[in-house]
Amino acid sequence: RVFNFCAGPAALPTSVLERAQAELLDWQGRGLSVMEMSHRSDEFVSIAQQAEANLRTLLQIPANYKVLFMQGGASSQFAMVPLNLLGQGGTPNYIYSGIWAKKAMAEAKRYANQHVAASAEISQLTAMPSQADIQLSADAAYLHYTSNETIGGLRAPEVFQTPEQVPLVCDMSSDILSAPVDIEKFGIIYAGAQKNIGPAGLTLVIIRDDLLDQALEITPTMMQYKVMAENESMYNTPPTFAWYLAGLVFDWLLNDIGGLQVMAQINQRKAQKLYQAIDTSDFYTNPIQPAYRSIMNVPFQLADDALNARFLADAQEAGLLNLSGHRSVGGMRASIYNAVPETAVDALIDFMRDFEQRHA
Ligand code: PLP
Repeated sequence: RVFNFCAGPAALPTSVLERAQAELLDWQGRGLSVMEMSHRSDEFVSIAQQAEANLRTLLQIPANYKVLFMQGGASSQFAMVPLNLLGQGGTPNYIYSGIWAKKAMAEAKRYANQHVAASAEISQLTAMPSQADIQLSADAAYLHYTSNETIGGLRAPEVFQTPEQVPLVCDMSSDILSAPVDIEKFGIIYAGAQKNIGPAGLTLVIIRDDLLDQALEITPTMMQYKVMAENESMYNTPPTFAWYLAGLVFDWLLNDIGGLQVMAQINQRKAQKLYQAIDTSDFYTNPIQPAYRSIMNVPFQLADDALNARFLADAQEAGLLNLSGHRSVGGMRASIYNAVPETAVDALIDFMRDFEQRHA
């Protein structure tokens, strides 16, 4: 298999795919595929419960938080968060940090006037605001931020703090499960699955119990966290195969990797060596201030944009795929999620050095 640096859908651990392949036609001697099982069957319910149990262990999720396995991607959460949290009024508060935060803010605007509590614009999106920059509105219903801006390659190194009555809501789509996180600091965490969780089509929501009952009247049934929680995420037919695969990924993280502490060390090492390769070269650049650089998505520019196509073609030839930057920013981006092995980063660095020698 090639080394895949795609931002999403992203690489999955090879051992997970091999296990899924081995079980594809006949899951544990039942004579059928997980894809063909009723979501209400004992078999699938056990798969679903095991996935949740492993996730709870990995993230140390306290008992007063529900885990929801939903659909619609993180983009649907942009609407679901205000729909589910504005039932008692108040002003949604947002931290602006880039393209994904902006999309979340655009959805919230449909339901209420919003307040920008802090903005990374001051630094031209090269640094996240810090805790001291945050100014909540007096009637804040919640504070939303994006822990990792997948396109900009900008991350929040700290979990922001809010007063007790203001739940913290976080879009963790592109860095969930990359390191341990203190769930208790959050009201809601959500993430599209297609980076560190599993295949696209599944969306994870972790929500504190007391926030389940604050939805606006207009909230569609399928978008109500309460309905999803009361029905164990099976109000309708869930994306069963994606849920099963996510379960295999959780199992891999827990039992093959050894948990999120170990995963975080590996991720730090991968990111550090790639940034170092960029910083020690005159040919490659990354604009983000070091303290705020993403551990998962590493954007970089070549000294000459005219070489971009050559770089991508040569990289592909060398078995290094999907290094093109997001269409809105250009340049390159290496997404080095959990399933991208350190050997892939080593191979990329070797390739970058060689390309620089040939073209600088
Ligand atoms: N938020 C972040 C940080 C993302 O990186 C993405 C997708 O890349 C999204 C939201 C949107 O996710 P989805 O495609 O699941 O709607």
